[in-house]
Amino acid sequence: MNLKKQEFFKKMIEKKLAEKVVASGRGTWGNDGEKPVEFIDQAAAEFEVNLNLLFKARDDGQVAELIEALERLEQGIYGVCLDCDGEISEKRLKVKPTATLCIDCQETRERRRTL
Ligand SMILES: [Zn+2]
Repeated sequence: MNLKKQEFFKKMIEKKLAEKVVASGRGTWGNDGEKPVEFIDQAAAEFEVNLNLLFKARDDGQVAELIEALERLEQGIYGVCLDCDGEISEKRLKVKPTATLCIDCQETRERRRTL
């Protein structure tokens, strides 16, 4: 995945994360927890400064997944399948930016689970 793509997914994930935090009222961006939608972009911009605060929100499974996705981006392993080391398609990542498995491995795991 090239840098431009990584940037794209980073922004997408950060925005989702900011939305979650603002929605839950746990962020420091909104004192009253109710900020207009435009504020979310600013929240995303301030994301890195506030990263530590987000760790407190890890009890929310989705927040934890989003943070892990960002960590994978930092490590340069974002979009790489955990099972087969293959590339996860961009189409799949756009639908589910926190995906850690390619579609084939995901299906294999689901099939195994139902056996
Ligand atoms: Zn795979």
